[in-house]
Amino acid sequence: MKYLSLRRVIVALALLMILVPTIGFGAPRGRQQNAKYVFYFIGDGLGLNHLLGTELYNAKVHPEMADEGRLSFTRFPIHSFVTTHSASSLVTDSAAAATALACGVKTNNGSLGVDAEGVAKKSITELAKEQGMLVGLCSNVAINHATPSAFYAHCKKRSEYNYIIDRLIEGNVDFVASSTILSRSKSGLKAADIAEQARTAGMEVVQSADIAAGVRGKRVMLLSDSLSRKALRFATDRTATDPTIVDYTRAAIRYLEREAGRDGFMLMVEGGHIDYACHDNDAVTTFEEINDFSRSVALALEFAERHPEQTLIVVTADHETGGMAVGYSKYKMNMERLAFQRTSQEQLTSKMQHMRESGRVSWEDMEQLLREYLGFWSHVTLRKKDEATLRRTFRENFLPEGDKVVGLYTSNEKMAVEAVRILNKRAYVNWIGMSHTGAHVPLFVKGVGYERFLECFDNTDIPKKIAEAMGCSLK
Ligand SMILES: [Zn+2]
Repeated sequence: MKYLSLRRVIVALALLMILVPTIGFGAPRGRQQNAKYVFYFIGDGLGLNHLLGTELYNAKVHPEMADEGRLSFTRFPIHSFVTTHSASSLVTDSAAAATALACGVKTNNGSLGVDAEGVAKKSITELAKEQGMLVGLCSNVAINHATPSAFYAHCKKRSEYNYIIDRLIEGNVDFVASSTILSRSKSGLKAADIAEQARTAGMEVVQSADIAAGVRGKRVMLLSDSLSRKALRFATDRTATDPTIVDYTRAAIRYLEREAGRDGFMLMVEGGHIDYACHDNDAVTTFEEINDFSRSVALALEFAERHPEQTLIVVTADHETGGMAVGYSKYKMNMERLAFQRTSQEQLTSKMQHMRESGRVSWEDMEQLLREYLGFWSHVTLRKKDEATLRRTFRENFLPEGDKVVGLYTSNEKMAVEAVRILNKRAYVNWIGMSHTGAHVPLFVKGVGYERFLECFDNTDIPKKIAEAMGCSLK
């Protein structure tokens, strides 16, 4: 009997040794390798309720989506959260948060790639380069905006855009994909000048994601042709030919997978548009941006299927934006009421501005616009007080010259802001404000070395754990 029991124990232990590592991508325990391919996804402004809201919205509004609209990463073996405060405030800005996520140190709001004393700190991508890895950075906002910049620049002021882009071009990041470049001067940086500077530095500068993916033996700068815009179009607004963060991610993976040698690569992808939509308190646009972000992560999961024993995927956020609440009143949620919003608040503002420019505008014209792009009256019934608010806003702010609601990145028509606010509330989605909050942010990890993230409590822990998974140390 004793022998049988012992044998059972041995069999059980052997099974455990086989099964437990498959929670990652299946690397056998005991001879687990270091992470050779590292994916680092950062959803700008992406809070815990934003994720819940997106999955509930998808389940109601996108019945065609697989897995009832679940995001590609919310069931990773590590599904946790981290604190985000900066050295100077309990509520971080994007620069301090990006520095924590890139360099593993707290710094003051506004600073990039330096500690609170202004001393430059090595980033995880700089460490990856030292290890012989290739490095890619993708963003659907500007590549010299806070989040990507902390991975390659070191300066006390995030607004030093010209200095920051110089660091990128003169540096050694292998693959860069961005919608635009920010400039400190009013005249703006000229696309042609940036392209010329990058070419002189030895980069291949292209506008097409497909062409970027095929570049061999050279550093790549993929810049969409929308340099006059501040970012790619929102997912809710784009046409079939507009590039997306998913296109950028796919191109980066094709390039890096082919060009990387035995030391592998690290790819950072920022879903920067999520934050823009949150600053506007625009739930549908936020959710659709998160869906784009999720599709980008899905590409990394496809890659991991080809390299299961060498890939690490980390998904997190820099801070929460807007203080989103889902189901904020009466124990109710009606996400299906969001199914008829066909444009972002920003684009709704553009449409209203066109109406202004066309001359006389009647309430009936405005009704038609709100019916067409938000589904008001046709699909979303409005309460009497909502309709009264809309009519008053129209009377007071649209005719003859209306106020703008100035957000961090946009200046929207008050009429558009009010209409989207009412729609959000009809779905029982609400926002505390238009700024960042001090809330926890999510952390999801899968793949080689995921166990290290079990004890990851603060955003500065994340790049240190990634370094450990790569077999080195970030100091
Ligand atoms: Zn941010």
